Amino acid sequence: MTLNYILEQLRLKGYRATEPRRIILTVLLKQIHTVLSADELYLLVKVEDKKVNRSTVYRNLEILTELELLYKTITDQGITKVKLICSDEHHHHLICDICGKIVVFHNCNSTYYNEFAKSHGFTLTGHTLELHGLCSSCKNS
Ligand SMILES: [Zn+2]
Ligand SMILES: [Zn+2]
Ligand SMILES: [Zn+2]
Repeated sequence: MTLNYILEQLRLKGYRATEPRRIILTVLLKQIHTVLSADELYLLVKVEDKKVNRSTVYRNLEILTELELLYKTITDQGITKVKLICSDEHHHHLICDICGKIVVFHNCNSTYYNEFAKSHGFTLTGHTLELHGLCSSCKNS
């Protein structure tokens, strides 16, 4: 996903490309494979521009949710963490159930999926796959 693509989606819904919005999106795009709580995101945004306030960050997360551009996960401590959804090159995620850490992997077994579907008379149109587990730091704590 690019900044321009997201801004265009927002524009179609009547949301303007304000400066704080651009900054929030730029930070989210830079952290495409890191889940952040709203507060963690706010701190990163503040590094870019001190004037952006917390409610603006929250409001923009609501808008991105509404446009279905946000991936959400809830950590063991009950904290909601978010990242932008991935829409680039086909890949999958290995996700830590406790802290939400994401590792990307590309070796997808699509030949097997296609053949499996075919053997049941399906023509495959797509798939989603997420691996879950505990990362090394969560496992040891
Ligand atoms: Zn991804
Ligand atoms: Zn973890
Ligand atoms: Zn795949």
